[in-house]
Amino acid sequence: QEPEEFSIESQLLAALERSWGYDAFRPLQREAMQCVMQHRDSVVVLPTGGGKSLCFQAPATCLDGMGVVVSPLISLMKDQVDALRSCGISAAYINSTLSADERREIADQIQAGELKLLYVAPERLVDARMIEFLKSAKVSMVAIDEAHCISAWGHDFRPEFRQLRFLKEAFPGVGVHAYTATASQQVREDIAQQLQLESPQMLVGGFDRPNLVYRVLAANNRFGQVCEVIQRHAGESGIVYCISRKEVDRTTENLVRLGFKAAPYHAGLSDTQRAQNQEAFLSEQVDVIVATVAFGMGIDKSNVRYVVHAGMPKSLEHYQQESGRAGRDGLEAECVLIYSGGDLVTWKRIMRGGDPSVFDSAVASLEAMNHFCASVSCRHRSIVRYFGQDLEAEKCGACDVCLDEIDLVDDATTIGQKILSNVLRTEERFGADYNAKCLVGSQEQRIVQMGHDKLSTYGLLSSETVNTVRGWIEQLVEQGFLLRSGEYNTISVTPSGRQLLRREVEPRLLRPANKEAQ
Ligand code: ADP
Ligand code: ZN
Repeated sequence: QEPEEFSIESQLLAALERSWGYDAFRPLQREAMQCVMQHRDSVVVLPTGGGKSLCFQAPATCLDGMGVVVSPLISLMKDQVDALRSCGISAAYINSTLSADERREIADQIQAGELKLLYVAPERLVDARMIEFLKSAKVSMVAIDEAHCISAWGHDFRPEFRQLRFLKEAFPGVGVHAYTATASQQVREDIAQQLQLESPQMLVGGFDRPNLVYRVLAANNRFGQVCEVIQRHAGESGIVYCISRKEVDRTTENLVRLGFKAAPYHAGLSDTQRAQNQEAFLSEQVDVIVATVAFGMGIDKSNVRYVVHAGMPKSLEHYQQESGRAGRDGLEAECVLIYSGGDLVTWKRIMRGGDPSVFDSAVASLEAMNHFCASVSCRHRSIVRYFGQDLEAEKCGACDVCLDEIDLVDDATTIGQKILSNVLRTEERFGADYNAKCLVGSQEQRIVQMGHDKLSTYGLLSSETVNTVRGWIEQLVEQGFLLRSGEYNTISVTPSGRQLLRREVEPRLLRPANKEAQ
């Protein structure tokens, strides 16, 4: 945790937030961005959808001068530049579609130092006059998108990319960074060699962390559940994440009172206090760090054996990153997430107080996180799918679902039948929430007005909460018994749902948690 890296990281996060409204890195983005900031050549492999563009765009906005991006796809260039401009970043592109006038205008902008990012087609960049011209501008870094095109081993070799090998000579001291979704090691090494990169950092994102065991627990007694995990790992290093500073303080106090070696970490502490607690954790005078998400930036402790989330994180990006601080040494480590439906409400309240322009996307990320918690699918698979990859094995062998630890209801078929019957009785015209309310027997005006309080399925699950029934509906959607579709997210019964109604197949439904004793 070099202080320099820490400040670079906060700078990058600020840029991410300011220009894109994102408040966390995707896997490997932090490392990839740091290479750009430190002018260290790099080859970055991330799957499609993994967020490669941001790896160079965000640092380019932080660095002095203009970043040059080589991209082979003329159509994508325009889209990217438009997207950047809509984020308030001055960007432009040069390719064969531009008129002489347009090109001159951009040349003026470059000379005036007005551009942060310039997209260039590879065949332009090898033009000696173009290179001379760019040399007169201050080039902060060079990014090469779809970099596998330079390798004959790749699936899309383009001869014009070959000329890019002169870039390092043309721009001495400027970092050159290659990005691709092609993962083979041969291609990676060929890219580095063709571009004549100088001891490049190789960053390869496979998003799965097979040595992590994921468990998701419905909260019934959070502090007790946290203690159980800590006790399982007596004397080992671990991190407990809480949603608020207040909870961090309270949890730390209670842990210390029970004799655990714990220390708090959050933005409300003084710099010295924070540095001290961090140091105590790194040097293992303290076993447990209780923290808000502020903890972890620039930290690299390899033998963290467990990470507990005492509340639901606000996105899977956050969860992946925070839980990913466990087991960096590759040895087994445990990640336990304790959640309740109330966490969703808490986060929405916090988000309502935040930036309204990012509210919708923040809520969408939050819903995906909530879905992960309430799901009965393999956790490893759910996480990597979210980031655009997949797992080969059917069962990962390292999550509560695959280890058969999750607590399922005994009569899932009957409950499933009740839910599906209600969906049919209301003619498949309503969403999850409405169906859940009918099933618990809500007196809501809309239901009464529609006459749905007269249905035989009305109140069939009146001993359950709306939240529980909503969760079950989500699980039935996930397992393919129900389908959510259309503008209004209406729920309908699928062919396998019909089988369920005939008791030919069995769903898996989570047992609701006991009411949380706070
Ligand atoms: P790639 O080029 O690797 O296929 P993109 O750069 O197009 O991926 O990013 C895929 C999507 O992920 C985009 O919509 C992008 O805005 C989004 N994204 C990238 N980084 C983040 C982040 N840190 N937080 C949230 N969304 C992100
Ligand atoms: Zn699994």
